[in-house]
Amino acid sequence: MKPAAFDYHAPDSAEETVALLAELGEEAKVIAGGQSLVPMLALRLASFGHLIDLRRVEALRGIEPRDTSVRIGATTTQAAIQRSEELRRLTPLLARATPLIGHFQIRNRGTLGGSLAHADAAAEYPAVALTLDAELEALSVRGRRTIPAGRFFTGTWTTALAEDELLTGAVFPVWWPPCGFAVEEFARRSGDFALAGATVAVGLDAAGRIDRCAIALFGLGPAPRRARTAEAELIGTEPDLDKADGIGSLAVADLDSIPSDLHGSAAYRRRVGAAMVARAWRRAVREAVHG
Ligand code: FAD
Repeated sequence: MKPAAFDYHAPDSAEETVALLAELGEEAKVIAGGQSLVPMLALRLASFGHLIDLRRVEALRGIEPRDTSVRIGATTTQAAIQRSEELRRLTPLLARATPLIGHFQIRNRGTLGGSLAHADAAAEYPAVALTLDAELEALSVRGRRTIPAGRFFTGTWTTALAEDELLTGAVFPVWWPPCGFAVEEFARRSGDFALAGATVAVGLDAAGRIDRCAIALFGLGPAPRRARTAEAELIGTEPDLDKADGIGSLAVADLDSIPSDLHGSAAYRRRVGAAMVARAWRRAVREAVHG
């Protein structure tokens, strides 16, 4: 099938883009890498009278390390993130999650902002943003605002972005050692969206106790979700590998809208999710303790 006809716009700046979004209203959609939007248009699951292509907007691309964070422009490709030495050092969780996204052809075109704005429940980047408490930057003709990741992902393929807002970038805080990060997921085939997955970030104080801990789950509900009860239990304790299975069970205990479909029942996904948390916990703790 082919997409329904649309008018094509290729602005040069973010300001021009948001002016078009404001002028064209709900008939307009921005397109970044097209790796999620184009299949939806081609299958006629969505149609828009106007597509606004971000490829010429140079200012939306790039990786910018700052004192205690790193800012990544919205149209930075997943492949550029994967290649970045700086991101491997500053935001290892983001770097490690990237190869799990689809296949390299998809990552060559797919963008950070597209993945965050598309907000697939099983996508890796939204879970990473939630784990690291990233701040997402939005622009519209009404001005700029920053949305914490914890308030950005509002449901299945929905975010806090207004229809006329453009995601311009994301700022990821840098965690300093001793700390450890891991992402684990289960997918039926390599490159498929995960049936269930987990990200873990853990930081230790000078005495070796856990002083920072973030656990996020993906593929286990309409949006990624932090396992706050499990995190709270861990703060102030010794990092203990033997606790991994218990942490996994606790992390998924209060999930109430796990999908159930032909790929797996909710009960199955819950078990897989607990196992992914346990695996990620072990890896993150080993890294935090041993470097
Ligand atoms: P587009 O497809 O261009 O846009 C997606 C949506 O985001 C659209 O609604 C668009 O309007 C909006 N959007 C894009 N940029 C902005 C912006 N700056 N501001 C506001 N709105 C914006 N993803 C995963 O996370 N994990 C996977 O395992 C995975 N597997 C895949 C397998 C296949 C076979 C395919 C085709 C895709 C897969 N994807 C996966 C999706 C892929 O990561 C996409 O790249 C990503 O979801 C969307 O990024 P994009 O730049 O292509 O966005």
